[in-house]
Amino acid sequence: MSIEILGSINVDIVASVDMLPRGGETVLAHATQRLAGGKGANQAVAASRMGAPVRMIGAIGADEGGEFMAATLRDDAIDCSAVSVLDGVPTGAAYIAVDAEGENQIIVAPGANGAVTPQIIPAPQESSRILLSQLEIPLPALAAFFAPENAGDRLRILNAAPAIDAGADLFDNVDVLIVNQHELAQYCGGVLVERVEDTFIARELMKRPDQCVVVTLGAAGACAVWPDDHFYARAFKITPVDTIGAGDCFVGALAALLAQGCVLKEALPIANAAAAQATQKAGGVPAMPNRAAVEAALK
Ligand code: ADP
Repeated sequence: MSIEILGSINVDIVASVDMLPRGGETVLAHATQRLAGGKGANQAVAASRMGAPVRMIGAIGADEGGEFMAATLRDDAIDCSAVSVLDGVPTGAAYIAVDAEGENQIIVAPGANGAVTPQIIPAPQESSRILLSQLEIPLPALAAFFAPENAGDRLRILNAAPAIDAGADLFDNVDVLIVNQHELAQYCGGVLVERVEDTFIARELMKRPDQCVVVTLGAAGACAVWPDDHFYARAFKITPVDTIGAGDCFVGALAALLAQGCVLKEALPIANAAAAQATQKAGGVPAMPNRAAVEAALK
């Protein structure tokens, strides 16, 4: 069964610098790269490479960045027929400076992502089983996407990232919520969870007894929390090279596995293995592993 992903589509401009600039300062980059990015696009690629049919829903500008992103998504067999090309707004962009230690500064210009309205969201396809989104698209569009009259009986997954307080308004109409430790802290009163039992605080976010919150714990793996149960899957043992995109890989892979009929307890360890593979390469989209690589790592 297929997945519909409503989400951001960004061109990432990454500048490698010796030192990040301070206020008023100019520094020279010794290398620049243009990479495909945005949480929506990253997760779409991760899901598609895990073997699930994916339709991307979102917006790009009528510009070269938009063409680059559409071509990148199509190369990964993602259906872009529901990606609107908007006049008068640029494709979303993230300007990222990274220093020698891997510290970064990021400025995001939402562009066309910020112009996504409920009107551009098509009715879900017959074949789709999962609706997935994040919080880089305006809330009215997200609310329309997850509304029961649009979703029907499809499983609705929200990766509530980046953490924004108003995002909690969507939780009523979501079946699986995915957050990392920092996002969970922001939604649940500021305490950073470190241990598996601490993730149970996620129950505060639940609005219905049939909801599940999946908390990713970085090098410690991930925990799925239900009102009366939990399931912890330890991380896949690996030495990371670059953890950018690990969270997006986890979410995309998990959605793909659920679309393919896995239950959460089966899917979590495999999503951990996929996300661990994503830490072995720099960047977001270029680091997403394919199914064969994930299965080889699990052997
Ligand atoms: P985010 O990337 O959103 O900050 P996390 O840091 O929780 O989210 O990472 C998401 C997932 O990536 C984790 O649940 C885990 O599966 C995997 N992961 C992240 N860091 C590591 C690591 N050092 N070793 C193995 N797996 C990792």
